[in-house]
Amino acid sequence: MRRSLLSYVVLIIPCFACVIIGCGGRPNSAETIPAPVALDPASVDGARAFERVRELLAIGPRSSGTAGAEKAANHIASALRSMKIETEIDEFEDGPGDRRGIYRNVVGIIKGKTAGLIVLGSHYDTKAGISESFNGANDSGSSTGLLLELARVLSVGPKPECSIMLAFFDGEECVREYSENDGLHGSRRLARRLKEDGRAAAVLGVIVVDMIGDKRLNVELPRNSTPSLCSIVFSAAREEGARSAFRLSNSAVLDDHVPFLAAGMPAVDIIDFQYGSTPGLNDYWHTEHDTLDKISGESMQLVGRIVVRMINSLMTGNATRHE
Ligand SMILES: [Zn+2]
Repeated sequence: MRRSLLSYVVLIIPCFACVIIGCGGRPNSAETIPAPVALDPASVDGARAFERVRELLAIGPRSSGTAGAEKAANHIASALRSMKIETEIDEFEDGPGDRRGIYRNVVGIIKGKTAGLIVLGSHYDTKAGISESFNGANDSGSSTGLLLELARVLSVGPKPECSIMLAFFDGEECVREYSENDGLHGSRRLARRLKEDGRAAAVLGVIVVDMIGDKRLNVELPRNSTPSLCSIVFSAAREEGARSAFRLSNSAVLDDHVPFLAAGMPAVDIIDFQYGSTPGLNDYWHTEHDTLDKISGESMQLVGRIVVRMINSLMTGNATRHE
């Protein structure tokens, strides 16, 4: 992803704060409202999420267009299918001229009781060109491992009120510099598909997680996230007793949430961009230091529980609380 101090002011972010009414629609009378079935945040297991990261890294580097990336896509798809989750590997070509490449999104869907849709997203590719062995434990192992753990929680839980999509993006990382042809390939692809097939209108929230495994968790929500979703993150963090680890950044970030915002969907990026040797530094990011010993199951578990609380909040339409 890329940070920008100024670009957020020109992004037009639709305000969904007061229009999210839950995916069940408006009932006729209070007596007919079935109680929404909530997911249990405590069922998210950080040790399992960590193990998922370890398994992913055992494949080796997975930069887009390599055999490693294809293996990673197949690995993620098999994991989802073993949980009986309906899963598609969406293979597509993207990029210009001699840099045109093959990308694969892995998309699982858990059907809900109604038409509403919540999208959980993480990229799984690693940045190319850092070193032969760069394996990205935090970027993008941690969020991929967490999404697989959330898939398990959702697959064994009660049928959700809304459908929940688990989207594993290829090609988040750019090769040279972020542009409409370089980087964010997978998220641009899915945002376009949702828009074209009409599902975008049913999306209650897109929750992107990225670099959430740092032992010293310090999440800053990019300014270019949908305000109502930021409020839900902060409420959920408070309920987990971890409000102080979550802040609103002064900066915008170009990450996988941006194509969804651009297509009119509410989206938030849960990202810790202080991944380094001392607080305030990000010197492990995109280096050989991004290794398993720097991340923890506890951090992944906390973020996972917050995401589950967010899903519950969006499912019940309890999305109008503000800080
Ligand atoms: Zn990266």
